[in-house]
Amino acid sequence: MALTFHVARETVLSKVAGAQRPPREPVALGDAAGRVLAEDVAADRDSPALSRSVRDGYAVRAADLPGDLVVIGEVRAGERFAGEVGAGQAVEIMTGAPIPAGADAVVMVEHTRRVDGRVEIDAPAEPAQFINPQGCEAAVNQTVLRAGKRIDHADVAMLAAFGHTQVSVFRKPEVAIVATGDEIVEVSETPTAFQIRNSNAYSLAAQVARAGGVPRILPVARDTVEHTRDMVLRGLASDLLLLSGGVSAGKYDVVEQVLADIGAAFYFDRVLIQPGQPVVFGETIGAAASGKRWQGKFFFGLPGNPSSTMVTFEIFARAAVELLGGRSESPLPMPFARLSRDFRHRPGLTRFLPALLSGDGTEVTPVEWHGSGDIPALTRANAYLVADPFRGEYARGEFIRVLLK
Ligand code: AMP
Ligand code: MG
Repeated sequence: MALTFHVARETVLSKVAGAQRPPREPVALGDAAGRVLAEDVAADRDSPALSRSVRDGYAVRAADLPGDLVVIGEVRAGERFAGEVGAGQAVEIMTGAPIPAGADAVVMVEHTRRVDGRVEIDAPAEPAQFINPQGCEAAVNQTVLRAGKRIDHADVAMLAAFGHTQVSVFRKPEVAIVATGDEIVEVSETPTAFQIRNSNAYSLAAQVARAGGVPRILPVARDTVEHTRDMVLRGLASDLLLLSGGVSAGKYDVVEQVLADIGAAFYFDRVLIQPGQPVVFGETIGAAASGKRWQGKFFFGLPGNPSSTMVTFEIFARAAVELLGGRSESPLPMPFARLSRDFRHRPGLTRFLPALLSGDGTEVTPVEWHGSGDIPALTRANAYLVADPFRGEYARGEFIRVLLK
């Protein structure tokens, strides 16, 4: 049965979401970015730890303004003012410095006039203006990061701010990559005119690494049941198995047969997309696989044409790599951009076609290509146009969805 793109994607997300989370390992703070957090992280102090000024200026009592105040001292970041601001008084204050006792507002230095030991302020002030109250960003013991988040640079900053020199992350999932096809030769070989170098294994490895997995490229499987089975069983020792090729209806497309023979369950083997219609997703949960070390593993049979392999990885398999890596979600943003020219396609399938998105992300132009095998066209693209299956024609200037490459 053929599924729509959305149903197929939901299938992947719901099946893999139930998988066990991977083991944990510690990493140093400097290596944490890009890894998936394996523990909740709490604030070890209020943030800010004291009420702080967010401007250079004067700490005052708002009720005194407008007015002419006596400057009784100054306070800078890293210090605390020992005294207290009384009626008619002000303390010169720098950004980041704690608010002195007695003061309830900060006036920007630009709005003041300093005359010897006094400061003249002509405008009123709102109580609490330019003050970050203690704990307003996070309170001590509050959970500020949840396990399952991929750590970005802001998360690294927060880990640092709360004193984590190391952090617990999930082990990266190992992803086996098996290209299939009698016509496929190693990259180092010189192919005859009817052979093709194995590019899919390398594009997949790059995509796996970007998704936070560790790629493991296995030898190319020949188009025989025996050799393909050998490679499939080797690949199932990893956390996830990706195959490329061998999933169409041809006589030598043996991938599904091999997987069925070892007792795999198939969640789909056809999706209403182009490229990549004959894409296979399943799990080795059948009887023949029981008790073996390859039981309970997810696999994808990705179609062999290079753009099909790349697109189906991105829209389906990436989610599996990310979820198996412990991430709590796997987003697939497809924002809108304006078409720079008219665009038409035959309705019925969701199409992912190579495209060039303008630098500011607002305008998209289809890239001329010659079908799913056109790697040169893919290198000229930085995105895919996502054409809706219910709609054949888009006029120049209309919005269409875009998937970043
Ligand atoms: P298949 O899905 O096995 O029918 O393969 C479809 C087409 O994809 C083949 O005819 C090749 O042109 C191409 N192809 C398959 N595997 C690879 C690979 N590993 N690297 C590059 N191109 C491939
Ligand atoms: Mg093939």
